[in-house]
Amino acid sequence: MRAVVTGCAGFIGSHLCEFLVKKGYDVIGIDNLCTGAIENIASLPKENFTFIRKDITKGISIQGKIDEVYNLASPASPKAYQRLAIETMLANSIGTTNMLELALKKKACFLQASTSEVYGDPLVHPQKESYYGNVNPVGPRACYDESKRFAEALIMNYHWRYGLETRIARIFNTYGPRMSASDGRVIPNFIIQALRSEPLTVYGRGLQTRSFCYISDMVQGLYRLMHCSYAMPVNLGNPKEIKIIELAKLIKRLTGSKSKLTFVKMPEDDPEKRRPDITLARELLKWKPKVTLRKGLIETIAWFRALEEA
Ligand code: UDP
Repeated sequence: MRAVVTGCAGFIGSHLCEFLVKKGYDVIGIDNLCTGAIENIASLPKENFTFIRKDITKGISIQGKIDEVYNLASPASPKAYQRLAIETMLANSIGTTNMLELALKKKACFLQASTSEVYGDPLVHPQKESYYGNVNPVGPRACYDESKRFAEALIMNYHWRYGLETRIARIFNTYGPRMSASDGRVIPNFIIQALRSEPLTVYGRGLQTRSFCYISDMVQGLYRLMHCSYAMPVNLGNPKEIKIIELAKLIKRLTGSKSKLTFVKMPEDDPEKRRPDITLARELLKWKPKVTLRKGLIETIAWFRALEEA
């Protein structure tokens, strides 16, 4: 099997490449490194992994057959996509079109990394795939939310018009080793602050919730989704919900840190609640997350500790 993975040098992309190579795939990884890091793919074997440094909005042609295209190229953390707002919108619109065209030409199956952010600040809880969301089209998260929503619509229309095999994964908060230490996401922020004995920056009162899925579970879910035959969106995430303040206390405990908590201003349009309803993924993919938050955090803390000590 031969697969293309865009966003291969990112957090989820690099773990997916590793997983596919272990399964015996030849993988072509594409990334422009605007948020990804070359170190994330440094250990992949040269015989089975080819890296192309390229922006997917610029178009891409690849020699030979391709069976699967995993489209993960986009800034994905609020800090990164707000800094690269227009680039994010172009990656998800023009970039996604280019990758759909590649899949069409190669008769490959196309999988999109969509996002729980298509639900915006949801008014329905937990979120099922049938919920249309509550999104602000002119807010600070719009560049990401709306371009991911556009991408979903585009993909469905390629599926309907051309019969292209397509999959849409709505990825909820995911964590693990190789997350960027500087992209402002809550788990790396809290772990690094705890390891450095700095105050943990809880936004607002920390009563907002998220549901965190460990990376190995996410990669398994993406792979299973690619290999089912369902074109409509599927939620992938861990349904166990936690308040951000509780997460801060848990990370403090697991790192043995003496850091204090500090409460800072809540960012605009920060969703109050987020939890996937994964009934569909359970039934369709026979998939559910296996790694508990505690176990996943222990692994993640060990990775960040080694990074801090290096
Ligand atoms: N958050 C926080 N402190 C931080 C970073 C984030 O309290 O240092 C909160 C943020 O307000 C949000 C949640 O943690 O409610 C998750 O934020 P993240 O940026 O990881 O991703 P999001 O789920 O918002 O896309």
